[in-house]
Amino acid sequence: MTDQFDFSLGKDCAEKLDHADVLAGYRREFFIADEKEIYLDGNSLGRLPLKTRSLLAGAIDRQWGKALIRSWNEGWYDLPKVISNKLARIVGAGEDEVIMCDSTSINLYKLVWGVLNSKPGRSRIVSDVLNFPTDLYVMQSVVNQFGGQHQLVLAPSRDGIQVDIDELDRLIDEDTALVALSHVAFKSAFMYDMQRVNDLAHSRGALVIWDLSHAAGAVRVNLSDTGADMAVGCTYKYLNGGPGSPAFLYVNKKLQEQINSPVWGWFGDSNPFAFDHQYKPAAGISRFMVGTPPILSLAAVEPGLDLLLSAGMENVREKSIRQTEYLNYLSREKLTHLGFKFGSPADFKRRGSHISLQHPEAYRICQAMINPDDDSPCIIPDFRAPDNIRFGITPLYTTFSEIHQAVARVEQIVSGKVFERYSAKRQAVT
Ligand SMILES: *Cc1c(COP(=O)(O)O)cnc(C)c1O
Repeated sequence: MTDQFDFSLGKDCAEKLDHADVLAGYRREFFIADEKEIYLDGNSLGRLPLKTRSLLAGAIDRQWGKALIRSWNEGWYDLPKVISNKLARIVGAGEDEVIMCDSTSINLYKLVWGVLNSKPGRSRIVSDVLNFPTDLYVMQSVVNQFGGQHQLVLAPSRDGIQVDIDELDRLIDEDTALVALSHVAFKSAFMYDMQRVNDLAHSRGALVIWDLSHAAGAVRVNLSDTGADMAVGCTYKYLNGGPGSPAFLYVNKKLQEQINSPVWGWFGDSNPFAFDHQYKPAAGISRFMVGTPPILSLAAVEPGLDLLLSAGMENVREKSIRQTEYLNYLSREKLTHLGFKFGSPADFKRRGSHISLQHPEAYRICQAMINPDDDSPCIIPDFRAPDNIRFGITPLYTTFSEIHQAVARVEQIVSGKVFERYSAKRQAVT
């Protein structure tokens, strides 16, 4: 990866980049209802892989419809492990270190509880102000349930975009049980150096839980090589698993016996079908499962993982950097004079695969992009309060030409005051 990119402003530059793109063919593997619509929100809900449609149709008709209960012994029972081992390769974990189950919030709850329970002498939890609200709520609730003896402390951010590692260095002490952070921040895309944070926490005897929701399938993650303890994440963003698809949970092999789940369910038992009265945790990662896996939603995750594995995370990250740099270049040239500010780190090494641009009229600009009232293309980014427009770059299906069109359209909306024709009234989901 070179630090130098040779971009120019014209549409021909985008076309040249698309032409040279080794991943260009992957776009054809996705369901694209309208070729003219530009989707830049794959960091919130990834597109539908075509394979998922046929796979689900078969699972419904043949497995659920025809084979019924027999399907449990014809693949369903092993499905969580089979698919989880594919996901493990995407985040650099070993076999039997990742399990897909529940939601990210629930999995985080199980692990935060497990860590506090395993470190009774330590009372501090360190996170940061850029973390996703559900993560902070989950930590607050566990603190409550442990009787309020713990304190959750949040590392500040000087600019609302990044957190300085020195702030973590200051907060993580010998009383710290847990450091829980998003690897890539949901608003700014700031990305921590996982190795440095793991080393820092470990040097003070604390454990680290990473939330990989905005990282898995977007950046190169290597949980094993960086000595990561635990992680959680969702599969409906860059992994293209579908709305509300099951989340995942990773626990380093070295810790699996030490961390207990607060929710003892039969799927976490060593032998669910013995129907024993006494719970005995399963060996390995399945002890963190709780109840019956959601087979159809789980099955729907596999095609997205297969596409990423076939494309290779190295190639995906390479293209993502090129595309986010291109978006930054165009924004710098065409949008900064219109009142836009950069809401993401300038250095791609410290950045995930989305870009936030800040503008006081961000909400109405988004509305104008999504609902054009003339023949302009529909462009779907998302809005994150108070003033961020997030552009999700998903290299498996985002093209350079789409990025070029999106920036041109934003320029037109702002310079032509098109956004003034839209209401500032917020919808429930933004
Ligand atoms: C998307 C996301 C979540 C979502 O949690 P759910 O339980 O799936 O709703 C949690 N944390 C982070 C950091 C996220 O980006």
